[in-house]
Amino acid sequence: MRVANLAGRLVLIEGELALDVETASGGRLPAEPQRVFEAWPSFLAWAAGQSVMEAGAPFEHEQLGPCVPRPPQVFAIGLNYANHADESGFAVPDDPVVFTKFPSSITGPDVEVGLSGDRVDWEAELVVVIGVGGRRIAEADAWGHVAGLTVGQDLSDRTVQFWGDPPQFSLGKSMAGYAPIGPWLVTPDEIAADREISDLGIECVLTEADGRQRVLQSGRTQDMIFPVPAILARLSAIVELLPGDLVFTGTPAGVGVGRTPPEFLRPGQSLTTSIEGIGSIRQRFTRG
Ligand code: ZN
Repeated sequence: MRVANLAGRLVLIEGELALDVETASGGRLPAEPQRVFEAWPSFLAWAAGQSVMEAGAPFEHEQLGPCVPRPPQVFAIGLNYANHADESGFAVPDDPVVFTKFPSSITGPDVEVGLSGDRVDWEAELVVVIGVGGRRIAEADAWGHVAGLTVGQDLSDRTVQFWGDPPQFSLGKSMAGYAPIGPWLVTPDEIAADREISDLGIECVLTEADGRQRVLQSGRTQDMIFPVPAILARLSAIVELLPGDLVFTGTPAGVGVGRTPPEFLRPGQSLTTSIEGIGSIRQRFTRG
């Protein structure tokens, strides 16, 4: 099942059709996309009885907004792929490195983003959406707490990220538009029907103003140091996970700051980030 935000309204998506949830449920379920997480299991039960192919209507992809517009908490994991830890000059961590992207940085799947400086970098990431919250979640139970997976970019102003001693990560990753997600969340069962859920191809491609393209990152989520169940177990051992939370799970190698010479985003470029079994998101960059 695919769940999306279409022009601010909660919808189910199948192929090129969308079904408005509030309308199809006769007003029993909310129109506001974030509110679906107030009762995710009963939403799933209702949605299983719907036929988007029969009752849905065509939609414009440009109208898709962030599938989780106002998560109560956003966790992000740093250095979660060994090849990215290496290019960043850090040892592979013994425990997950955790920071936040403040929720006001969330934006939709196809947007313009103003660059905050001349050292803004890309990080293609698998993003987990929590459906059922909890504390002390066991690794074996972790997927049962996941509403779905979506594609994210952990856009990062490296100047602000590394300000100060010790540096802090969260502010430099929280400018307006620095947390694009989408194009929808895909439930774990839908992904697992076609492929191994812990081994998804993840890629990001840069398009120059003149149309030339380059693959910047190309990896597989099976190379995570802390896989999704381990992340959720470790986070929930300390913090209560809440329905509608997001977890950015880290990026594979190929970021700009790890290149020789370093390379950063420039106005006029655009970035397409894709994950197998989910879809793609795209940002066009302007001067901030
Ligand atoms: Zn990241």
